[in-house]
This record gives sequence, structure tokens and C-alpha cells, in this order.
Amino acid sequence: MKKEKGQLIVLSGPSGVGKSTVIAELLSQRDNIYFSVSYTTRQPRVGEQDGVNYNFVDRVEFERMIAADELLEYAEYVNNYYGTSLRAIQNKLDAGIDVLLDIEVQGAAKVRARCPDALFIFIIPPSFEELSRRLHRRNTDSEDVIAGRLEKAKVEFKEIPHYDYLVINDKVSGAVEEIEAILTAAECRVGNRASILARFA
Ligand code: 5GP
Repeated sequence: MKKEKGQLIVLSGPSGVGKSTVIAELLSQRDNIYFSVSYTTRQPRVGEQDGVNYNFVDRVEFERMIAADELLEYAEYVNNYYGTSLRAIQNKLDAGIDVLLDIEVQGAAKVRARCPDALFIFIIPPSFEELSRRLHRRNTDSEDVIAGRLEKAKVEFKEIPHYDYLVINDKVSGAVEEIEAILTAAECRVGNRASILARFA
């Protein structure tokens, strides 16, 4: 059934936890959900496509977007800017389509302040050692960058109490199942079923 308003879903978790894989699997299983392609000043990794994984822009363009107030939120993360285009997601939400944001904790805090009805999900690996293994296995970043990402992860974990749900990405299928359950539960909220309730008035 078509919804009057889409649900904004914020997914955070440390770099290397496997968010992109979980998201790709979730999108392949679920209808009526749109992944917000962020803007970033970081260089594309091997296999990443402009407009699909990110919109890759330079710092001048990113700073123009900040000044023009085009971003719902943005943050600087390991020396690069990352941000969410407000217009792209607003159109989807207004059309009754759920919107999924993959953003780090500073950006999530900004969304929490602006959109208190959003759903906040944090995704963690089964252990810190496993996170380190996954970052090394990815084989895309230098030792320095990996060390920076692991340090950053420790800081990010402190923000978990501000989230609504904690999902453990041990196996991708398990993480996707948990997120599906969260999204289904959110759809069943009384506030989200006003049009159905009206039939019984
Ligand atoms: P990566 O470089 O590994 O793709 O992403 C680094 C971090 O930036 C991840 O934690 C990811 O969730 C976050 N990120 C990606 N897009 C955005 C965005 O639009 N805004 C914010 N605040 N963080 C983002």
C-alpha cells in the first residue's frame, strides 16, 4: 500500500563494517525505498561509480553547496567532506517513498535535530578485531588511513546510545533481516497508519 509520507532512515556504522553490502542487499529485497547518493570530496575507490556510490565533487563545489544551503547535513570525515542533498530526498519522502541515508555520526546528529521522526540504526561488526580484518581485506586504503578509520570507529561507538536500533553485521543476511524487521515495525506504528484508521472512524 502506498504511504502518504516516506520514512527517513539513517544508517550509521564504522567504515569497513560492510554497510554498502548490507544496503545493496536490502535495496534488492525491498520495494519503495530509495538510497540517497551522498556528495563527497573523497576520491572514488576501485569499482565505485559516480552517481551510484557517491556523487564525487571537488572541495570548491562542496563548499558552494554548503553556502547555498543545499545540504540536509554534512560532515568532515577523515579529511573529506560528505553530505546529503536536501532536495533529492525531500522529493522522495513527499512521494511516499522511504529514504535511506548512509551517514556518519556527526551528520546523523544533525538529522536527529532537524528530522526527529527519522529512524536511527547503528550497525556494528561482531568485534573490533573483525572490523580491522575487514578494513585490511578491502585492500583499498593505506595502513595510515586504516589506522585513522579504526580510531574514528572508537569515537563513533560512543554515539550508539543516541540511536534507536543496533544491528550486528556478522552475516549480511542476518543484518538485512534485522533491518527489514525494524522497517516493518516502523510501518506498523499507529501514527503511520492514520489513513487505515480513518476507515474505522
Ligand atoms: P567511506 O569513505 O567509507 O565511503 O565513508 C566514510 C563515512 O562517511 C561512512 O561512515 C559513511 O557512512 C559516511 N558518509 C557517507 N555519506 C555521507 C553523508 O552524506 N553525510 C555524512 N555525514 N556522512 C556520510
